[in-house]
Amino acid sequence: MKSNSVESNIGESWNGVIVKHIEQRIIYMLEGIRGYMMVQMKKKHRKFQRNRRLIFPLALTILVEEDVNARKCHARASTNNMIEVRNGISSYAVVLCSCSCGASELSGIPWCHAQLSIGLMRLTVNYFVHECYLVSTARKVNACEMPCMGGPQT
Ligand SMILES: [Zn+2]
Repeated sequence: MKSNSVESNIGESWNGVIVKHIEQRIIYMLEGIRGYMMVQMKKKHRKFQRNRRLIFPLALTILVEEDVNARKCHARASTNNMIEVRNGISSYAVVLCSCSCGASELSGIPWCHAQLSIGLMRLTVNYFVHECYLVSTARKVNACEMPCMGGPQT
């Protein structure tokens, strides 16, 4: 998983759903959770179908901030597509999106050193953003369907 933060929002969300049905018989509890999931999946499917962006705003914000930081760094090209990036007294060896500081690989977003390297190679930074930040990936993930079910009378 590409993320620079660790959160347990998924677990908290599930707890909120389960608590609503906790005092029901198991079959009604499961039916309540299934109904909740069906509605949520439809909402997300609609949301990502309407979204015309290429990259999610969080990743875009980081790209812009790191572009500003990249302007404070100095780069020197070496052989084998390696770039040496200096920021004050710090120095990093960079090959496209792989940097010795590890920030780009950890987050999946080209950090300032990687952006400098990608820019020197005359490539587009957007192509190096991990697919988990792409709206097209969210569309694919949320394209799965939950079938409607008939009740016990059917
Ligand atoms: Zn770096």
